[in-house]
Amino acid sequence: MANYDMLTELLDLPNVRVTHYQLVGKHRLNLFVESTLEAAVCPNCQQVSLAMHDTSEPQMLRDLPIWNRRCGLWYAPRRFKCTGCSDTFVERVVWREPGLGYTQRYEHSLYERMRREPVAQVARIEGLTEEAAQGIFERRAKKASPTGATRS
Ligand SMILES: [Zn+2]
Repeated sequence: MANYDMLTELLDLPNVRVTHYQLVGKHRLNLFVESTLEAAVCPNCQQVSLAMHDTSEPQMLRDLPIWNRRCGLWYAPRRFKCTGCSDTFVERVVWREPGLGYTQRYEHSLYERMRREPVAQVARIEGLTEEAAQGIFERRAKKASPTGATRS
């Protein structure tokens, strides 16, 4: 059985394990990851649940590039059933905001670059649409400054 401990260590996301990887051509790397936590906290009643219900469809989340390859994390969020309120809920992970197609650190890195370089240029290098890149910039700018920073 293959062991991906080294990739897990290099990836360095909390409570995440690499289960598989895939090189796509010369410029892409896909990492298949899963959460290593056995429990999740119900957002409704704060009870800790060990009862895994199911997993959602795997999603591809953009992460920081490695060795000049664009990196995509394939991750299937897990759904738990709460024993307290019987609700089912999707586990939260600290490295990604729900609903977003990229990791927090990717967002941060892009934001820092777009503060110095034109958005269009960063978008082209990253293979994103300008709208997507601009959206990332604005989200992060709002977080960075409560008054809402704007691009100068
Ligand atoms: Zn609950």
